[in-house]
This record gives sequence, structure tokens and C-alpha cells, in this order.
Amino acid sequence: MSENCLFCKIASKAIAAKVVAEDDGNLAFWDLNPQAPTHVLVIPKGHLGRIGEAQPQDQERLGRLMLFAAQVAEQLGLKDYRLVINNGAGAGQTVFHLHLHLLAGREFSWPPG
Ligand code: 5GP
Ligand code: ZN
Repeated sequence: MSENCLFCKIASKAIAAKVVAEDDGNLAFWDLNPQAPTHVLVIPKGHLGRIGEAQPQDQERLGRLMLFAAQVAEQLGLKDYRLVINNGAGAGQTVFHLHLHLLAGREFSWPPG
């Protein structure tokens, strides 16, 4: 738990979110400002500021996070979807607790904007 971290507060249920799925180490909840018909945020419950801060000892929990995200997509019946990680303010990161954007339900351009 990192003090004053919005997603730590959501993970601990101190701040409410519309939960999609949860396991021991991960939480998925609907984004407050969706950028696609389906826009879910998938986070590890333990704080990690951004993917660029990950250390070798984070390998297992990062693997579990990815598998959890794929399970959430399956639970939502999604076949095609995009998983996005913004790393750093210059790349669009605004909340500094690692999260995967699970986006689906519209066409996505490539390369991404
Ligand atoms: P970032 O820009 O850091 O990659 O993504 C942060 C995401 O968190 C944004 O898509 C934003 O809409 C979402 N968000 C910010 N505050 C809240 C909140 O209090 N609740 C929920 N559910 N989503 C939030
Ligand atoms: Zn946090």
C-alpha cells in the first residue's frame, strides 16, 4: 500500500469502483472515463508505480497479472481486444500504480495514437 495512491485505495476498497473480477493478487474494474465500449482497468493489488520500475522479483506477479487480464477478457466474452500499458507521463500515464487497459468493442488503429 502506497500512501495517497488512488489505485491502492481502490484495491483495498477504501475507494469504491465497479469491480469486474478479483483474485488474491489482482483486481479488474471499469474505467471511470471509458475510451471504448469495454474499458476495464486491470491492476496488481500490490503497489508498483509503473512497469519500468519492475524488478526481477516482480516476475511472478506480473505473469499472474497478464494471465488474470486474459481471464477477465474471456469472462467478458471478448475475442478481440487490446491491452495497453502507459509508462510515464509522456506516454499518457496519469495514475502511478501499474495498470493494464483492457479495451474492446470498437476498431483500433495501428500504430496506436
Ligand atoms: P493512465 O492514463 O494512467 O494510463 O490511466 C488511468 C486511468 O484511470 C484513466 O483511463 C482514467 O479514466 C482512470 N481513472 C482515474 N481515476 C479513476 C477512478 O477514480 N476510478 C476509476 N474506475 N477509474 C479512474
Ligand atoms: Zn498504488
